[in-house]
Amino acid sequence: MQNSVAYPESNRMLCELTSVQVTCEECGRSNSLGFEALQRATFSGVYSYELLVARLKCKVCPSTPRRWRRLRVRPEWRLDYTVE
Ligand SMILES: [Zn+2]
Repeated sequence: MQNSVAYPESNRMLCELTSVQVTCEECGRSNSLGFEALQRATFSGVYSYELLVARLKCKVCPSTPRRWRRLRVRPEWRLDYTVE
């Protein structure tokens, strides 16, 4: 996949995402945040990918401080941008 990103992914905006695949490395659950979930996050004040990742947590695992959460996050960026 050719995706030229000149700046860190963490600075990108949520509106650039089509979905986010989250896998919990503790229990193996995986879930996908689609357009609606991302839109809800935006409405609640989460605008960047970095903020989103910071707020992610597994629903079934006991809640642990952020830096000990073991979540694998795979963003799907919108690729429907063209330059004319
Ligand atoms: Zn879990």
